[in-house]
Amino acid sequence: MSIKQRDKKHIWHPLTQHKLHPETMAIVKAKDCLLYNEDGNEYIDAIASWYSSMYGHCNDFITSRVYKQMQQLDHVVFAGFTHEPAVKLSEELIKILPNNQEKVFFGDNGSTSIEIGIKMALQYHFNLGDKRNTLIAFEDSFHGDTFGAMSVSGLSVYNGPFEDFFIDVKRIPTPNGENNETILAKLKDITDNNKIAGFIYEPLVQGAAAMKMHNADGLNQILKFCKTNNIITVADEVMTGFGKTGSFFASDFMETKPDVMCMSKALTAGLMPMSITSCTQDIYNAFLSDDIGKGLFHCHTYSANPIACSAALAGLELLQSQDIQDNIKRIISKHKTFGKHIKTNKKVKSIRQKGIIFALDLNIEMERYGDLRYKLFNFFMENGVFLRPLGETIYIQAPYTISNAQLNKIYKTIEDALEIV
Ligand SMILES: *Cc1c(COP(=O)(O)O)cnc(C)c1O
Repeated sequence: MSIKQRDKKHIWHPLTQHKLHPETMAIVKAKDCLLYNEDGNEYIDAIASWYSSMYGHCNDFITSRVYKQMQQLDHVVFAGFTHEPAVKLSEELIKILPNNQEKVFFGDNGSTSIEIGIKMALQYHFNLGDKRNTLIAFEDSFHGDTFGAMSVSGLSVYNGPFEDFFIDVKRIPTPNGENNETILAKLKDITDNNKIAGFIYEPLVQGAAAMKMHNADGLNQILKFCKTNNIITVADEVMTGFGKTGSFFASDFMETKPDVMCMSKALTAGLMPMSITSCTQDIYNAFLSDDIGKGLFHCHTYSANPIACSAALAGLELLQSQDIQDNIKRIISKHKTFGKHIKTNKKVKSIRQKGIIFALDLNIEMERYGDLRYKLFNFFMENGVFLRPLGETIYIQAPYTISNAQLNKIYKTIEDALEIV
C-alpha cells in the first residue's frame, strides 16, 4: 500500500475537513527548493513550507551543524541548566534584533511564542500592581491556534466552539495611509474605557489574512500611542522575521520599536520546531522580585532544545552571508518585474509586495476554502509548483535559494492559472 493510502487509517491532518478532502500527498524527499512525492513527481516549494525553509530544504551547511550538535548534546532541561547553543543564539540574535531588545525567552512553536508575549504583557502590569485585562489587536490578524493566540486572532472564522472562552480583545483596523485619524480616535476611545495591557500585531504583513499589507507610518503612530499610554507592544514576527521583508525584521521599518517580539518559522530554518519571545530590559525588570510568584512561570519541555538552537545558529549565519543577502535582492527585483507584467492582466485586481513576499488578488470573489481555491491549488500542483492560494489571493514566499529558472516557472504557472479562473 502507498503511504497516502496507509495515511487514511490513523492520521488526522491539520486544517482539513476530511469528509470533503480525503486526499493527501506523500512527500518522500526534499532538497533545496524541490519536494519529491512517492509517485516520483517533483514540486517547487514556492512557499518554503510555510515560510520556514528559507535556505532550502536539507541544506548541507545547516544539516552538518545539526548533526554535530546531535552527537554533543541532544536535549536537557532548560530550567536550571543552560548550554552553549542557547547562549550563543541569544548573543547572535540580539545583534540583529532592534536594539531595545535585551532578553530572550524560549518556546517551542509560533503559537506558544504568542502565549508568552501575552503573558509578559498581562503580568508586567500585574507585577506593578496595575491589573489590566484587555488586549488590542488588528482586524483580520492571525497569531496561532492555542487559546491566547486564538483570542487575539481576528480571522477566527472556524473558532466558533471556543469563542466564549477567549481573552477580552478590542480590534482596530490596519493602517492604510488614510485612516490614521480614525484609528487614533478609536484607540483613544478603547483606552479610555478599558484597562488595556497590550497591543499585539503582525508588523506590515498579515500572512494568514492573505498577505495583507499595511502602512509603516500608520503603524508607527499606533506604536507611539501605545508607548505614551503604557500599553505593551507585542510584535508577532513569526512570519515576517529573518529577512522576508527585505530587512532582518519588519519592525526595522518603524521608528518606534516593540517591547516584545515573537519569532518562530524561519528561526530554525525549517528543521526543528522552536520559538523565541524577546523583550526589553524594562519588561524583564518587572519580573525581578524577592517574591517568587512575580517570575514568569512558563515552560515547555523542549524550550531551547540544543539541536533546534544549532539549526537556528546555522540559519542566522546564512541569513547574514553575502550570498543570501544578494539572493534576497535578486528575488525582490524579479518579483517587481513580474508584478509590473502581471498587473496588466484583466483577471488580476491588484498586486502587492514587501521584500520577497509577493501577492496578487484575482478579480473574483472566492471562498477561502471554496471549490475554485482547490481548482487553483490542483492546477499548480499538476504543473509542479506548490502554492497555497488563500481565497482569491495567490502569493509567493519562496526560499532565498530559489533559482531564476524556478522563479520563472512559478510566474509562468501563475499566469497560466489565470486562464482557468
Ligand atoms: C504561523 C504563525 C503563527 C503560529 O505559529 P505556529 O508555529 O503555527 O503555532 C503565529 N503568528 C503568525 C504571524 C504566523 O504566521
